[in-house]
Amino acid sequence: MTPPAIDPEHFRRLGHALVDLVTDHFAGIRERPVFRPMQPAERATLMQEALGEAGARPEVIIERFRTAVLPHAMGNGHPRFFGWVNSPPAPIGVLADFLAAAMNPSCAGGDHAAIYVERAAVRWLMELIGFPTEGSMGLLVSGGSVATLTGLAAARHWAAAQDGWSVRNEGLQHGRRPFVLYTSEQGHSCIEKTAELLGLGTDAIHAVPVDEQFRMRVPDLRSAIAAHRAAGKRPFCVAASAGTVGTGAIDPLAELADLCGAERLWLHVDGAYGAVAAVGAGLERADSVALDPHKWLSVPVECGAVLVRDGELLRQAFSLVPAYLRTEPDRGFGGLPWFSEYGVQQTRGFRALKLWMTLQHLGRSGVQDLVARHMALAEHLARLVDASPDLERLAPVGLSVVCFRYAPAQLRGDDERLNALNKRVMETVQASGAAFLTQTTLRGRFTLRACVLHYATTAADVAALVDVVRQTGARLSAER
Ligand SMILES: *Cc1c(COP(=O)(O)O)cnc(C)c1O
Repeated sequence: MTPPAIDPEHFRRLGHALVDLVTDHFAGIRERPVFRPMQPAERATLMQEALGEAGARPEVIIERFRTAVLPHAMGNGHPRFFGWVNSPPAPIGVLADFLAAAMNPSCAGGDHAAIYVERAAVRWLMELIGFPTEGSMGLLVSGGSVATLTGLAAARHWAAAQDGWSVRNEGLQHGRRPFVLYTSEQGHSCIEKTAELLGLGTDAIHAVPVDEQFRMRVPDLRSAIAAHRAAGKRPFCVAASAGTVGTGAIDPLAELADLCGAERLWLHVDGAYGAVAAVGAGLERADSVALDPHKWLSVPVECGAVLVRDGELLRQAFSLVPAYLRTEPDRGFGGLPWFSEYGVQQTRGFRALKLWMTLQHLGRSGVQDLVARHMALAEHLARLVDASPDLERLAPVGLSVVCFRYAPAQLRGDDERLNALNKRVMETVQASGAAFLTQTTLRGRFTLRACVLHYATTAADVAALVDVVRQTGARLSAER
């Protein structure tokens, strides 16, 4: 057979061998280091390898994967991984990706099963967070960044239409009143990226100060809006957070929804990390929500979702149907309005299958249990931190995030030395393979940040994290 063809029996053998490989990988994950740093030669070999002139045998390629790629995973499959906002893959999601690739549809639109699977999976997300399912629209995207880009593009379109002009026709080149976008000081960097990509520029962003719980201060927002209006600017959107990436803080969404209603501003909620855990906080009143099933729900990356209250408006912001794609309902390959009319992508992968399967495997109560378990483990971690005289907590627990630092009595208050020490603690812990956590900066302090997102993490794993941080901190400060 000529590549890429593989004869069916050969494919079956390869597939079975890979199922064994993945099963062993999952089963043995606790026995291996969380993270194994690559050697310079290993990096160089991978990066510089030449593509062979002749095709290689699948067995050879797979063996190379097993020895050179698989051992150097990012670490987020391990129950002692607490870095960033990265969960392990739900096993059924791993299988789903195989099936999705086997079908390989384009989910731009059309009248095939994948489209209806995505409609259902997105509706389930809406139902899980209490977002309206009537008249709204949602679609899967690569992640929270593109979800935010999509939601804010709709916001920009809406605001221009409110003022009687079309941003799709004019762009931002006609000297209209400058838009102002509000987010908190703790807003995710994707909001900045979005402002750049939408032609607003980062100067259009007003970063509202946060309170002691790292939530947006609504009175400050209110006065900023008034000041901007008085200065001839056009406030158009508040991009709030339901679970900031730094501390897991949830902005006061209900108050913000009231304010946005009164001021006629679009309320976008970045719930990439926390939406599924922020049910009841006011998410249901947002105009758009970004939500990442590839975070808390453990759907294998990439799987983000954007939900927009006014589905027709989202379509108006993006719909562009070239002649070769025109269809009629119930005729030929028509079906529902195409997903490609609601976002950036034309050809779209079958991301929905892994979400559809993972949600069904969990069930509604499984989602709630997962969220509750992670939040309880974060509280447990915070208690361990608070009970350790050489550790200092730097923020209230938000969702499943704990922020702290190693701060022995003799260094308390010396932020400069503590910053340098904690950076080394983090790097040393990461390289040790015993556990993995990452960083943020809070009020100028280098902060160790642990985010619980693994379905198999236990109280013992959390205790092990505390132990390794304390031991590492003690060793490094003794060396100084
Ligand atoms: C992860 C994250 C994002 C960005 O989402 P991606 O999936 O990485 O594109 C945005 N906001 C928050 C709060 C996040 O945690």
